[in-house]
Amino acid sequence: MKRQKEYRYYNPVIECMDRAKLRELQNERLRETVKLEYENVPMYRERMDAKGVKPEDIQTIDDLRKLPFMDKQDLRDYYPWAMLAAPLKDIVRVQGSSGTTGKPIVCGYTENDVEVWTEMVARACVEAGGSDEDIVQVCYGYGLFTGGLGAHQGATRCGATVIPMSAGNTNRQLMMMQDLGSTMLCCTPSYATYLAETIVDQGIKDKIKLRSGLFGAEPWTEEMRQHLEELLDFDACDIYGLTEIGGPGVASECLWKCGMHIAEDHVIAEIINPETGEPLPYGEVGELVFTTITKTGMPMLRYRTHDLCRLTDEKCECGRTLARMSRILGRTDDMMVIRGVNVFPSQVETCFMQEEGIAPFYMLVVDRVNNSDTLELQVELTEEYYAKSDDVKEKIVKAIGARIKSTVGISAKITLMAPKTMPRSEGKAKRVMDNRNIKNM
Ligand code: ADP
Ligand code: ZN
Repeated sequence: MKRQKEYRYYNPVIECMDRAKLRELQNERLRETVKLEYENVPMYRERMDAKGVKPEDIQTIDDLRKLPFMDKQDLRDYYPWAMLAAPLKDIVRVQGSSGTTGKPIVCGYTENDVEVWTEMVARACVEAGGSDEDIVQVCYGYGLFTGGLGAHQGATRCGATVIPMSAGNTNRQLMMMQDLGSTMLCCTPSYATYLAETIVDQGIKDKIKLRSGLFGAEPWTEEMRQHLEELLDFDACDIYGLTEIGGPGVASECLWKCGMHIAEDHVIAEIINPETGEPLPYGEVGELVFTTITKTGMPMLRYRTHDLCRLTDEKCECGRTLARMSRILGRTDDMMVIRGVNVFPSQVETCFMQEEGIAPFYMLVVDRVNNSDTLELQVELTEEYYAKSDDVKEKIVKAIGARIKSTVGISAKITLMAPKTMPRSEGKAKRVMDNRNIKNM
């Protein structure tokens, strides 16, 4: 740990609360939310009625399993306002998903919801070592996407000096970073890596004052963190969230970096078996499901995220008792089935990130040749390794191939790409090109 913690927006009363007391608080807020939803949202009332469940039947978290699920499809079916629990005049903000998985969805936030969200991100900033002394450069996109405004509001609430750069224009980002002495960076981990490598390439590392970063909105790995931290010698923390549940800050890492603390005073997290919908115990990998308990605009009850992770409620070394979620290990919907094997991009990523000479830019290309699926990993070499002999490159190819074979369970063709040839993303990175679907249509 490189920094002292600043406690300005750290609330130990909530964050280090006795878990039995926290449960009481959650139960009380859950009861209120279920009542609010049942009385104001016809689609959900009908769904509860169909299951024979009344609001009074939901008294504690143990009763959660009686409630029907919600899903992104509901937001499409009831687009734009049919899931509001508050009158439209009380909605002060609209945020939407970037629509990486289909038609965009919109969520209405009341003043209360914007406040809850702001508080969650402020908490995340402090968890990552931020304070009112920080100069925070926000290069998440501003707009319907919650990344930009979320980081902006949270860092502002911490009292930090916020630079609302939005995404893109790397040279200008780096100029501002040097001129204004940014100490905290907020963007996607893939863009952070791109910025970090450009800093090293341009030889300007000694002019960069970054001490920490809040990186989220897309999956990344421990190897990617190590790579980033080595490049810039700072603390790279993970932050998670989704538009429907209240934006980034639903969970975020402290400087111990051992899982993201969930804002359990605002949400209840469950892990379920994605096939059966049955709740799973802490420690098991499954689909993350959230119930919001303080939102008033568009509360979500048992909202299925399709994100896969595991939870723990063990007390963290930082002293916080809030449960932690692991990194997102994959999505139920980005799981590829290749020759009958379940493959997640993040799994493949861990197979090459520890390899020397590999830059963290890659693409998985899936195809179907003669009725058999093929997987190709295209991955970039660093400048240094690109100049090395074919023997060295051959060794890298073999090592990565063997690791994929043993951990993922399938053989893949490894193609080493020249430096700076793979696409760089300023927002969420696209890592998979599945040509099978295109051909089957
Ligand atoms: P969409 O990506 O569908 O347009 P959002 O912008 O609300 O919608 O993004 C929410 C999704 O982004 C999450 O469900 C999750 O899959 C992904 N995500 C957000 N933060 C992280 C993170 N820190 N690690 C991995 N995935 C993340
Ligand atoms: Zn902690």
